[in-house]
Amino acid sequence: MFTREEIIEILTDESDDNLSLLCSDAHRIRVENRGESIFLRALIEFSNRCQKNCLYCGLRSSNIDTSRYILSEDQIIDSAVKSYNSGYGSIVLQSGERRDREFISFVTKVIKEIKRFSDNKLGITLSCGEQNEETYREWFEAGAHRYLLRFETSKEENYYRLHPKDRFHSYSDRINAIKTLKKIGYMTGSGFMYNLPNERVEDIADNLLFLKELNVDMVGMGPYIPHHETPLYEERNLVRLKEKSDIMKLALKSIAILRHLMPHINIASTTALQVIDNQGREKALASGANVLMPNLTPDTLRENYSIYDNKPGVKEDSELISLPFPIAYNECGDTI
Ligand code: SAH
Ligand code: SF4
Repeated sequence: MFTREEIIEILTDESDDNLSLLCSDAHRIRVENRGESIFLRALIEFSNRCQKNCLYCGLRSSNIDTSRYILSEDQIIDSAVKSYNSGYGSIVLQSGERRDREFISFVTKVIKEIKRFSDNKLGITLSCGEQNEETYREWFEAGAHRYLLRFETSKEENYYRLHPKDRFHSYSDRINAIKTLKKIGYMTGSGFMYNLPNERVEDIADNLLFLKELNVDMVGMGPYIPHHETPLYEERNLVRLKEKSDIMKLALKSIAILRHLMPHINIASTTALQVIDNQGREKALASGANVLMPNLTPDTLRENYSIYDNKPGVKEDSELISLPFPIAYNECGDTI
């Protein structure tokens, strides 16, 4: 178990030998606690409509440059069936944030249909932003059992550098939503972005320790990648690391440190890593991560789900690359 000081020391250490040692240790801890196999989640980005205005994200409501869509129930079920038949034990339904009744009921209906056709076998993770307790319960009772909601950054003052300060964006609401998900019984995932403008190494250490404090079950964290149609784009030169290779090292360090802090959780090797290194996901899987989330959003709509520039998988096929690890097909991969 690392102290805050030790984490900061690792994050600032430039030795490649120390980094490989840290990563191979993390890999060993992962295998001991979560097994050799990688778990798969098929990612279905079912809508890019969003009421929020996060300063970093291309889907923010003020971005009129994106054409908005929501998949039909049939389209989502088609993708879910495809995932199920390809041996994915679990899917992630992700979208922009909407809190209207029409949207809430639509999601409930889709969850029930997926549970029905898969005979309760296909695991469902939701990632549809902040909702009230009643909505989270409705979706839980319909059959969703995991939820991903990143806190994005653990310090309140940093949070308001990334979000407008209004009723749609409240730091305390965000943190409380994560706690509510846990209370209801969801396997709860959270995480943050790193290499944000003006970020300090101490912030990353605090983010990692905050995941431990929240006692989350799963983590997805990834590099901030500027999107040209967002306000934060103006600050893109204020990021601490400019070289992709340095950002990749930070990614591996963050994953490896977290695996030391939380041996039993699921840690995703996120899509954004592919943007900075074409072997990024594989490297992460050898450094403590154990979950892969291939994109199964229908090809024709994928490019509209543009949260950041040069998002991978936008023009290519979603075939699974040959991985140097066994894959746990047809398994949900729960930690509890
Ligand atoms: N609307 C939901 C889920 C979709 S966004 C939500 O916000 O929770 C999913 C994640 O994309 C966010 O949590 C954020 O961490 C990440 N993201 C958004 N813009 C990004 C960017 N420019 N670079 C990297 N990650 C980004
Ligand atoms: Fe909407 Fe999520 Fe993007 Fe924020 S990060 S603008 S909530 S899609």
